[in-house]
Amino acid sequence: MTGSRRSAWGVAGVVLLLSALGALGVAGTMAHKWRGKKQSAATERGAARFARIDVHTHISPDGVERALQIMETWGIAGMVNLSGMSPGPPHHALETQLAAARASGGRIAVFANAGFMKALRMANQGVRADYGNVMAEELVLSKQLGAIGLKIPKGLGLGYPAPDGKRVLPVDDPGLDPLFEKAGELGMPVAIHTGDPKAFWQPADAKNERWDELQAHPEWSFRGQPVPSWEELYAAFERRVARHPKTTFIGVHFGNDPEDPDRVAQMLDKYPNLYIDTAARVPEIGRQDAAKMRLFYEKYQDRILFGTDLGVAAEQDGMMYGSNGANPPTLEDEARYFTSTWRYFETRDKQFESPTPIQGRWKIDGVGLPEAILRKIYFENAVRVLKWRPPSGPVMVPHHAADAVPPPNGPAGK
Ligand SMILES: [Zn+2]
Repeated sequence: MTGSRRSAWGVAGVVLLLSALGALGVAGTMAHKWRGKKQSAATERGAARFARIDVHTHISPDGVERALQIMETWGIAGMVNLSGMSPGPPHHALETQLAAARASGGRIAVFANAGFMKALRMANQGVRADYGNVMAEELVLSKQLGAIGLKIPKGLGLGYPAPDGKRVLPVDDPGLDPLFEKAGELGMPVAIHTGDPKAFWQPADAKNERWDELQAHPEWSFRGQPVPSWEELYAAFERRVARHPKTTFIGVHFGNDPEDPDRVAQMLDKYPNLYIDTAARVPEIGRQDAAKMRLFYEKYQDRILFGTDLGVAAEQDGMMYGSNGANPPTLEDEARYFTSTWRYFETRDKQFESPTPIQGRWKIDGVGLPEAILRKIYFENAVRVLKWRPPSGPVMVPHHAADAVPPPNGPAGK
């Protein structure tokens, strides 16, 4: 094994470990007692003025109850869990995520992930060289099980090793073509994350605009790492979208280029199969000129999907609101996250605090979109692109049976 080969699989090992850790959450019981709750809190604070679908969340299997609480509090009708993981042995992680989502009463839909590590290891070991077909076959199963889309994480391009183990697998690797073609055939949109904030390629020092975030997470810096440049990654992303005109892509994090809305616009003009989500990038797009951004939203009102990048776990310490600092986030962070986000889309307020100040020390300006455009971005575009609609009416928040007060003279001992 060469040094570079070892290091490529070392990165992959971390990715694999993370997904295995995710799968460990599977034991959480879903024993719930349901109760209807009046819409009071959300309506009173105006959060429920619009139906909203959050197309970009990461919900752990034990986080469904917490996700429903958030939906009820902040006026969100449904969430898409992009952390579906992949089906089959040894972890059956997708099956677990789908079962957890079913306990939400139709409020949570799930995107599968492709089993990159398993397929690439099989290719590396000479078991099956056609890893793209292996993942395409797996995607058929994921759809049969109930997944509605495919999420490609930034590990593609930045971490997953090529089968030879000598380099990182490029985003536009031809061996993966069958996977992306199959997604199109199955009518499963592909949410794809390529690259990261450009600042993560710059020197990680006090001049870096994401210095706060990089101090809290030094490992997020790609400076000096054996990874492609930001531009190389983006070019490969474009070639991938161009190669599969019958596959619907959702470029997450504002089309993977929130720092440059003009380039995002060019991409949307060029590729009718491309959509974008707004996840965790309101700080970036909120510092652009608001009048210019309003024109962007007007022109691409059918191509933009609302998303947050919310990470949801049973415990508050496991939550993530777009990005986290060194300490676990608080309920105050949650309130700022949602109120600043609504304020960005719905008002023309100037220079207010961004949803995630740790992503940069600047203030943002609201775009104050007209209601018809808000309805599309918050809800209608997601229904059309995902072919999925959460139930209307108030969100039902379940309570663990263990927490419920037993009825007097209940059927004890039966
Ligand atoms: Zn995400």
